[in-house]
Amino acid sequence: MRILRTIAEVRAVVADARSGGASVGLVPTMGAFHEGHLSLMRAARDAHGLVVVSLFVNPTQFGQNEDLGSYPRDEERDAALAEAEGVDILFAPEPAEIYPDGFATTIHVEGVTDVLCGARRGPHHFDGVATVVTKLFGIVAPDAAYFGQKDAQQVLVVRRVVRDLNLPVEIVACPIVRESDGLAMSSRNAYLDAAARRRAAALNRALAAGEAAFAGGERDAARIVRNARAVLADAGIEPEYLELRDAVDLREIAQIDGDALLAVAARVGAARLIDNRILRGGA
Ligand code: AMP
Repeated sequence: MRILRTIAEVRAVVADARSGGASVGLVPTMGAFHEGHLSLMRAARDAHGLVVVSLFVNPTQFGQNEDLGSYPRDEERDAALAEAEGVDILFAPEPAEIYPDGFATTIHVEGVTDVLCGARRGPHHFDGVATVVTKLFGIVAPDAAYFGQKDAQQVLVVRRVVRDLNLPVEIVACPIVRESDGLAMSSRNAYLDAAARRRAAALNRALAAGEAAFAGGERDAARIVRNARAVLADAGIEPEYLELRDAVDLREIAQIDGDALLAVAARVGAARLIDNRILRGGA
């Protein structure tokens, strides 16, 4: 595996691999790798001749009062884990390589960014995500890019960019990888102390309660959300949001008659955590 810092080096390696007939898979990350990240690398490794993992804690997607400064960083450990997964290139640029002086362009997606994490974190968050992902697509020119369903709204935003801007990249969404008690793996789980870590499992249990109601035939959105909320309340967790929305355009729904996204965000101890389930209500 090679660790590259510059766009020019990445372009040269990708061009070389392509001339040899290899397809290219990209896994965008912010590092602090866990099994969730590694599952994306494996999916890319299975499908492509060249696998590029980007490691970039993207400053533009963090708000003023968010955790950009304290976000966990350990490139040496990450590089060893990526290498063990057979990754070819770890692209770990400095911020100035991605955002040189005079950088002035933002990709803004309307609609799906107005709700859930977009509403809570503010418009800069998904603007930052959409812009950096579009840049990575321009830098790496991958055939496919791999994202985790854990960040369900991010997947919808990226799909929207790809469709609207006719970008020639396939977006692959991979299943959520969980700890043994159901907590969705996240780099931010490192912020949890022992007590908060135990309480954090309630997010998944709340989603499971909503899912169980749905599996039992419940189609009323408010009642499904109430079931899930009760589990959070038992754990003393007040969510930032816990909502059931259309899984494709994130519009509010009263009844489930297609695929629905049950999504939660909550502060638990020192961490802001998110999780979700798709409830498949289609025919
Ligand atoms: P991050 O480094 O947190 O920006 O995440 C990089 C990629 O890994 C994103 O596409 C995330 O959705 C994905 N990811 C993070 N946690 C998980 C998880 N528990 N299961 C699957 N994918 C994940």
